[in-house]
Amino acid sequence: MMWRIGTILSACLAVGFLMGLGIKFAYESTTFKPYEWKNVPIIANCYGDDFSELQMTRAIHYWTIRGESIGFYEHNPPDSICEAKDMIHGFIVLKKAKWWELDPATLANTRRMTSGFKLVAATITYRPGAQNLDLLNEHELGHAFGYAHIEEKGHIMHPIYGMMGPKFWIP
Ligand SMILES: [Zn+2]
Repeated sequence: MMWRIGTILSACLAVGFLMGLGIKFAYESTTFKPYEWKNVPIIANCYGDDFSELQMTRAIHYWTIRGESIGFYEHNPPDSICEAKDMIHGFIVLKKAKWWELDPATLANTRRMTSGFKLVAATITYRPGAQNLDLLNEHELGHAFGYAHIEEKGHIMHPIYGMMGPKFWIP
């Protein structure tokens, strides 16, 4: 009898866990901005010298005038940040993709780490050469600030680079 109670209990826990994941997934896929940062993030350029500081400054400005905040932008961060194996709490790190990291159709990818529904870390990985494309940093930084995709032509968060534009509105 004991083992049956144990089995039923663990089955309930598993179902509860899956429901939790399902709710989180539904929330992420239906909410335009599912996440906010827990603390104001610092942006660190670990891509290298061929990342245009001007392009990044412009992308940061794009979001700060729309209400997002960053601590500061570090164009030449120390190795301790750029060579860290894990994502670093409080940082948005910009990185150059290794050849196996992005599929051929992807210009850049943003990975986010959350704690509950708060963002604690993000990494933006760029295909080599894509880092200075017009509006790409604005788009990826949008993900890093918690925004999802929206298929509206001309919107900065359109998932297709050719359909993206400089506009932003909350749908
Ligand atoms: Zn995107």
